Amino acid sequence: MQNDILTKKDLEYVWHPFTQHATDASPIVVTKAKGCYLYSEKNRYLDAISSWWCNLHGHAHPLIAKSIYKQARTLEQVIFAEMTHSPAISLMEQLVPLLPKGLCKGFFSDNGSTSVEIATKMAIQYFKNQGIPKNRIVKLENSYHGDTFGAMSLSSGSFTTTFDSFLFETLTLTPPYPGKENQSIEAAEELFNNNADIAAFIYEPVLQGAGGMKVFNAEAFNQILSLAKKTGVICIADEVLTGFGRTGPMFASSHMEEQPDIICLSKGLTGGFLPLALTVTTQEIYEGFLSEDRKKAFLHGHTYTANPLGCAAALASLKITKSERCTVQRILIENYHKQFQEEHGHRWPRCEVLGTILILDYPDSLKSYFSELRNYLSKAFLKRGILLRPLGNTVYVLPPYCVSLNDLDFIYSHLIEVLCQIPQ
Ligand SMILES: *Cc1c(COP(=O)(O)O)cnc(C)c1O
Repeated sequence: MQNDILTKKDLEYVWHPFTQHATDASPIVVTKAKGCYLYSEKNRYLDAISSWWCNLHGHAHPLIAKSIYKQARTLEQVIFAEMTHSPAISLMEQLVPLLPKGLCKGFFSDNGSTSVEIATKMAIQYFKNQGIPKNRIVKLENSYHGDTFGAMSLSSGSFTTTFDSFLFETLTLTPPYPGKENQSIEAAEELFNNNADIAAFIYEPVLQGAGGMKVFNAEAFNQILSLAKKTGVICIADEVLTGFGRTGPMFASSHMEEQPDIICLSKGLTGGFLPLALTVTTQEIYEGFLSEDRKKAFLHGHTYTANPLGCAAALASLKITKSERCTVQRILIENYHKQFQEEHGHRWPRCEVLGTILILDYPDSLKSYFSELRNYLSKAFLKRGILLRPLGNTVYVLPPYCVSLNDLDFIYSHLIEVLCQIPQ
């Protein structure tokens, strides 16, 4: 179909995510993608946000594509209760040695929000099964854990206000942002020492993504995790964004010494090819569900749990992630970002680098996700052939690991140009 016909039919038939259809521009029809580039009929766009943070090794990577193709010709999908398969087993076998210590039992689902729902339900039921009255959950200020009702309850952003009266109650802790470390630790002491009914503490380790790409102090956060663990709270690390090397190490939890009891993985899990998620927990939590009583089992599952195609993609992606070439490439990106930060960081109120991610704040009196300026910037970058989506007054560069230094130079130069010409 022709481009203009597709655009017309898109408007007729399709409802897009996070889109105000009354005012937003028509979406770009992407016809193909390769490496870091998305192609439309006439233009190409550098995917500087890894297509909502999920692409790791570039689009249409031949190794991952081949792995999916081979799997599709062998076993495409099978019920995962009473049945199992090699791609799921191999994936867990290969992941466990890389995961934070002690995490060994993987529960599959299909997106980040469900991986969080599962972690939370596991934590609540773990105590319920033993008759221990712990049922409250602590979250962080500015957190984002997904868009389903449970995940919204655990988030604290401007996306959820419409549904506030439908969300379950949580306790909120301010993360140890730079300069606020002691206040945060003191608040955590107060919280964990005085509330014996806390079941779980959920957090995005070190980097809070959708909440504004906020970075907090790992050392101070380690003390907070220590406090939580001492009081018997299940610590849930939501590494849906930070997993698979985004922040430098394979998992952002390794910025801390204290390790989580449950980890949530999704975005990069299949290298950005297919929807798949994992909630991985300790042997101890798993054993809390073993009983003669069926009701004590974890009665949760999704139709496409552990889809073999997703697992095959994840196995191929993991092989690439573990390669020396990928590790070197991630270090190269980080160093290049840091060089940019040194040379140009002074131009903005905030310029931070965390692993492969570069984060900038620009002055915007509205500062909100709903600011007009963010739409203006987003369009300005697209016009220049770069896909960047500012969050409030924050712009971040989160490229696939195969990005070249030339591509990064291209992004940097347009970042400077566009952000220095902001109409006030
Ligand atoms: C994106 C994201 C989620 C939700 O994942 P979906 O696949 O969009 O449901 C949860 N947690 C974090 C930290 C995320 O970045």
